[in-house]
Amino acid sequence: MNNTERAVRMYERYVMNTYKRVPLCLEKAKGAKVWDADGKEYLDLFPGWAVSGIGHCHPKVVAAVAQQAKKLLHVSNNYYSRVQAELAEAIIRNSFPGKVFFGNSGAEANEAAVKLARKYGHEKGRYEVITMTKSFHGRTIAMITATGQDKVKKGFEPLPAGFLHVPFNDLEAVKEALNDKTIAIMLEPIQCEGGINIPDKEYMRGLRELCDEKDIILIFDEVQTGMGRTGTMFAYQYFGVVPDVMTLAKSLGGGLPIGVALAREKFQDVLTPGTHASTFGGSPIVCAAALAVFDAIKKEKLIRNANAMGKVFRNKLTALQKRYRFIKEIRSVALVIGVELSMKGEDVYQECLKEGLLINCTQDTVLRIMPPLTVTRRDIDKAIAILDKVFSRI
Ligand SMILES: *Cc1c(COP(=O)(O)O)cnc(C)c1O
Repeated sequence: MNNTERAVRMYERYVMNTYKRVPLCLEKAKGAKVWDADGKEYLDLFPGWAVSGIGHCHPKVVAAVAQQAKKLLHVSNNYYSRVQAELAEAIIRNSFPGKVFFGNSGAEANEAAVKLARKYGHEKGRYEVITMTKSFHGRTIAMITATGQDKVKKGFEPLPAGFLHVPFNDLEAVKEALNDKTIAIMLEPIQCEGGINIPDKEYMRGLRELCDEKDIILIFDEVQTGMGRTGTMFAYQYFGVVPDVMTLAKSLGGGLPIGVALAREKFQDVLTPGTHASTFGGSPIVCAAALAVFDAIKKEKLIRNANAMGKVFRNKLTALQKRYRFIKEIRSVALVIGVELSMKGEDVYQECLKEGLLINCTQDTVLRIMPPLTVTRRDIDKAIAILDKVFSRI
């Protein structure tokens, strides 16, 4: 029995079986490379489910964590810490004026956003949040309710009231759903789990106008799109539409757990002392890691690289598409890449894994590729060669 098999056996005995895992046990990683517990190397173009956005174990993040660990790991939120203050400032300096709330995950960030919206609408009896079909917002009871996919809700009913789904990228559908109970519209600027669905800019502008007109809070869930991946620091900047509340998580912490809800000035004081809290939220160690992520993105010009490598990747995938009829569509914005196949993608995913390439498959037919922002031409060439090899066997 090798190390991987031993780990798998222990999981079978001790870990709840809530994930569809593949038998790959990771031991160490650097950038876009990972090694399993038995020494095999892989190219990881979906690092940490979009968490390791600037690559695994980025040296700046590792150094910041090590340094902070020697000083202070955790401080309760009835005291202040300088790193938390500095991270709040960094987030706002890179986005829009307002204030942040710190939690530990994407679901928690979205919970904070929805709580803020409900609090804002409470006196007028407005509480309903409109979300989109095929969306994904997390796994708490409220967020599976917000998520516009039945598969996450089944078996957990009764679900809380106050959420309504409409089709994505359909402004008329939103207008029809609006009523005197509506307080917020929540969406991912690009649906990632939903299959890399990219809305029109006019749709996004239309939502903004609608929200302004009716005093409705526009919430962008940027948990997966945030931090440079779209060729802008945040996806809302790609669309040129600023939300009222933006949520962040995955890649912000450089591998450490963090969740943030940022509210623009008009809504920044809606949540008051005692109305919301998180014990671990904004701990110094995590904030130090996130500050290092901002620093790395800026100093290493990673957004420029995301744009350049996004183009390279897209061109090479388009060339593959000319040779393989079953590649139906390539949808991408910089390093948010979806390859829709006219068949199930599970086998492609499994074969890539065997060939040493880690990607993802979502909504059955969409290959999801989210390389680290540090990805190089060589990495892309290698990935394309493996995809070509795998496709040629179909
Ligand atoms: C991953 C994800 C979440 C949930 O984040 P967790 O940290 O797993 O709670 C929410 N929204 C989007 C868009 C995500 O991709």
